[in-house]
This record gives sequence, C-alpha cells and structure tokens, in this order.
Amino acid sequence: MTDKTLPDLPRIWLPYTQMKNAAPPLVAQRTEGTTIFLEDGRALVDGIASWWTACHGYNHPHIRARMTDQLGVMPHVMLGGLVHEPVQALSDRLVALLPGDLDHCFYTDSGSVAVEVAMKMAIQYWINRGVTGRTKLLSFRDGYHGDTLATMSVCDPEEGMHSLFAGVFPEQVIADLPRDEASLASLDTLLSGKRDQIAAIIVEPLVQGAGGMIFHPPEVLSRLRALADKHNVLLILDEIFTGFGRTGTMFACEQASIVPDIITLSKALTGGTIALAATVARRHVFEAFLSDSPGAALMHGPTFMANALACTAACASLELFEREPRLDQIAALSAMLETGLEPCRALPGVRDVRVLGAIGVVELEAIEDLSRLKAALVDQGVWIRPYRNIVYLTPAFTITPGALVRLMHAIYEVLRDGAFRKPV
Ligand SMILES: *Cc1c(COP(=O)(O)O)cnc(C)c1O
Repeated sequence: MTDKTLPDLPRIWLPYTQMKNAAPPLVAQRTEGTTIFLEDGRALVDGIASWWTACHGYNHPHIRARMTDQLGVMPHVMLGGLVHEPVQALSDRLVALLPGDLDHCFYTDSGSVAVEVAMKMAIQYWINRGVTGRTKLLSFRDGYHGDTLATMSVCDPEEGMHSLFAGVFPEQVIADLPRDEASLASLDTLLSGKRDQIAAIIVEPLVQGAGGMIFHPPEVLSRLRALADKHNVLLILDEIFTGFGRTGTMFACEQASIVPDIITLSKALTGGTIALAATVARRHVFEAFLSDSPGAALMHGPTFMANALACTAACASLELFEREPRLDQIAALSAMLETGLEPCRALPGVRDVRVLGAIGVVELEAIEDLSRLKAALVDQGVWIRPYRNIVYLTPAFTITPGALVRLMHAIYEVLRDGAFRKPV
C-alpha cells in the first residue's frame, strides 16, 4: 500500500544514478538514423549509438521489415525441446563469421548473462574433464564484464565495488593487463603459481570499454593466447562491445589472428533493436559437456533465450553487414575521427586523444563536474555521455560526415569552454 502523505519519488529507477535530486531524464519520443527526437521538440545527434548498439543507425528499414514479418509469424517460442528458423539461421551466420571452430552458440538476453554463462562453461569444462580446483577466473584491472554478481567479481575491483560487496561474490585473480615484457613475465609467474585454481582468463580484446576506452595492441592478445596455452587455461574473449565491426574488423580477435576458447557477443548483435546475447564455444569446450552422465550438461536456460524476434533482428543486422559496405564505412569514419578530434589535443585539460576503428576518445585530466558537461553537450544538440575522465564517440557506422562533424565540433566547443570544470 502506498502512503499518499509521502512526497512523490520517481517511479523509474535509473541506471548508475544517485536518485536523490537526480536531474530529470530527457524524454525520447522517436529515433531516426542518428537522431534522437525529444518530447520537447529538440533533436539530438547521437554520438554513442545507445550504448554502442545501434550500429546501422536507428530504425533501419531492413531490420524493421524483417522484424515486422517475424512478429506476424512467431515472436517467441521456448527453446526447450524446440528450435526455429531464426535461431538456426543466426547460428549458421555466427559460426560462419567467427574464426576457427567457434561453432556452438548458447543464447541469453543480456551481455552480463552471456559472461556468466561463459564463466560457468569454463569452470564446468574442467570439472567435466575430471580436473578439480579450477574455480577461479583471471581478469584484468580496468576490465568490465557486466553488472550481475558473478560478473562484478571479474570487473575492475574499484568499479566493480569489490570492497562494498566483499564476501558476497567469489574472489577472482585480478592482474594488470600486460603491456610489456616485464608485465608479461609477471603474469607468467602469477599463472605458474595459480594455474591449478584458474579455469580461464577473461579479457575485452583491444579495448577495455566501460573501464575508460583504454586500448591495447593486438600483440597483447596473441601473448595472452600463448600464456593460456602454456598454462593450460581457457581464454574467454568478451567481445560484447568490440564485436560487429567496432574496432575496424568484424571481431577484434581477428586483428591478433587468435581464436578464443569462448567468445561473448551482445550490444550490436541485433543492430541496437532488441535484447540478445550469445556465448559461443569451440568444439573442445562443447565436447567436454558430451557425456552419458546427465550432471555433465550445461545447466542454464533463460526463459526467453534465442527469442525468435531477436534472432531475426540479428540476422537482418548481419545481412546489412553483407549488403552494405560497413567495414569500408568504419575505415572512413575512423579517418574522420582521427583528423576531427585532433584539435582537442591542444585544449587545456586534455590528456590524450585516441582513435581505434569507430571509437574516438578524448581523455581529460579529470572531469570535475560531470552533470555540467553532460548538460553542455545537450545544449550543443548532441547526445554524448562522458564518464570517468573521458568524452568519447561510438557513432552508428552509417553516420553522415555532416553529423559526425557536428559531434566533434560539439566536443571541441564544450571542452574549450571548460564545461567539465566546476563553475567558479
Ligand atoms: C556492456 C558490456 C557487458 C554487459 O552487457 P549487458 O547487456 O549490459 O549486461 C559485458 N561486457 C562488455 C565488454 C560490455 O561492454
């Protein structure tokens, strides 16, 4: 029962938000291409594609048409004991696109759960093979793998709130991402000591996204693959952010010519339309679950797994990668980000400017007033969401040069005006 004498509090609990006196969120009414139209009549150029998902822009007619057809036929049917054409088609497509023998697709509804499934797969892989004690994951500082309890345990200790939740979730092995011979050697030593406790290494390839858009070269990944092989642990690549073109290749792992044992995908999988995620395993991982003992099966099955409408959207999105010159567009976009963001480097308070594929980052010394900076960007008519100490762009691959210039100009203007500083 509600007490009508209490003051009204917001009914919608917003993500990552202190709800006490939170600025009221803007109301989105409709989207088209790379524009978000607000209820109050304003239109914002979208620089981040709704948390990196809407890679073909909003309301792409091809995805819409395919989804509309599927909605009329069968939006959903349970996957227990049944499969359907959209999930078969999507699995065929993913297996064909992914490198090596990443041939076995397990579907969930969100990235975090896809990572949870990857963690369960890796731990049970060893149990099923009769190897005991390998219950931990090795992950890296500044990493981000999701918000559920188990995935928090493999996130950056600070951002994953490891001290607040101490004792709640399992303690993992967390290391610095190795960037040189010395740090590779210490990771090697760490693995020598702890390999009997470790089921898998998990890493975001090429870019630690939510941790601050921190890049590393492909060699880091090939060295991690070699270390995983040397110490006989599995390698999980979390390509939830990097998958589907964002770093310039369809998958980031292609740039290192490595094949992980397990890969997780979500974000741009359905072109930003509807929730879907996949955890894809190599043959040897899948085979470890084949047994006459029922207890060896993977015990996981989200109610809405492989939702037919979502699988259709994902197929339609992958059809667009085939039909339209996406990777060329990403290369062109990358070059424009390089030249267009470069002038920011000279601005006071800017520490670094970097670009990888369709990711452009301006790193500041510090963002003193995040709310002020966000508001200043909206005043410029753009939707850009700075966090930590970065202002970044991850636009739709289909963005027009004009819209991209508007985004980059807006960043330059607000940083030049010092909108990230506390007002004096
Ligand atoms: C966004 C993200 C996740 C979590 O996905 P959700 O769908 O938000 O649960 C996990 N890993 C990476 C690398 C991500 O970028």
